[in-house]
Amino acid sequence: MQTDVVLFGAAPKEDEALLQKAGKIIREGGLVAMPTETVYGLAGDALNPSSSEKIYAAKGRPSDNPLIVHIADMDSLQDIAVDIPDRAWKLADRFWPGPLTMILRKSALVPGETTGGLDTVAVRFPSHPAARGLIKASGRPLAAPSANRSGRPSCTTASHVLEDMNGIIPLIIDGGTVGIGLESTIVDLTSDVPMLLRPGFIDVHTLEEILGRISVDPSVNGLTDKSAHPKAPGMKYKHYAPKGELCIVKGPEEKVVEAINALSSEKEREGKKTAVIAAEETASRYQCALVRTIGSRSREEEIARNLFQVLREMDDLGADVIYTEEFDTPHLGMAIMNRLIRAAGHRIIRL
Ligand code: AMP
Ligand code: MG
Repeated sequence: MQTDVVLFGAAPKEDEALLQKAGKIIREGGLVAMPTETVYGLAGDALNPSSSEKIYAAKGRPSDNPLIVHIADMDSLQDIAVDIPDRAWKLADRFWPGPLTMILRKSALVPGETTGGLDTVAVRFPSHPAARGLIKASGRPLAAPSANRSGRPSCTTASHVLEDMNGIIPLIIDGGTVGIGLESTIVDLTSDVPMLLRPGFIDVHTLEEILGRISVDPSVNGLTDKSAHPKAPGMKYKHYAPKGELCIVKGPEEKVVEAINALSSEKEREGKKTAVIAAEETASRYQCALVRTIGSRSREEEIARNLFQVLREMDDLGADVIYTEEFDTPHLGMAIMNRLIRAAGHRIIRL
């Protein structure tokens, strides 16, 4: 299959023609990759079981790992979910369209193939004009997981999608580099106390302004090992991992720089291609031949936006061993470290 990559956002008339073409592919049961404000999504008709099966196959994703259903207006929430609590409407009012996913009881309309057999459904109303336009043009809610092959870092540009999906899907809508760069915050509203299942751009404190106290799934902060059973099935899988062995080094700044320098020179002596991921503030202090700057600690949005790009770059460089600093920044640190800990397969050196 040939994969076309078509630009979105340059000319309104061409955008409309592109969305109509993409919408037709979706209605006919095919898949289209689309930009959202978080990461690129691989979209199919959420109400068509065979579209969901195609998504699992294209990603190489285990079919017990449910898909998020994307809608483009508030009313559609009632088609997808039942027993919707007041607090869900409050969250929707405040954060939709935007990077928040809610877990609710599913309606009979949503097939079990889309929800990985669960009786709950994950729903989001994205803000990106291409995503909203595609939902409207297809006339369907869209099941759209991140557009990466399962296990790889999520895609923040159309060329990442092409790397993973070339020859597998017919169309990639290219909206440039995404704005946020981390997947949506997921909150489960089916239990008495709402539970954060995946941290994202909208942080716990902001959610608590609307919800009061919320609990946090222990797997979110990497506090549990791989044998734990996180409530979001996807969180139990190895994810985001570069091909080389990634290790997080955390502790006081001086000690981290010293330790990474010692470790990386030892690995280089052993003949291993070694790389370091560092903040702008400390990058120049590493002696390793390959140092990648992820962004400034004073601009945490930049670190979030660059994270997956930097992890993919590690593969391009052919790094065997990678040491990274910790990026435990005030607002997005929980979301950034959740991805990094899983990318590192829980390999952490604490100083
Ligand atoms: P992705 O599609 O790559 O953004 O990942 C979606 C995440 O949402 C995965 O970790 C899923 O396991 C999780 N998820 C989707 N639907 C549900 C659900 N009904 N209950 C709990 N987690 C869900
Ligand atoms: Mg994903």
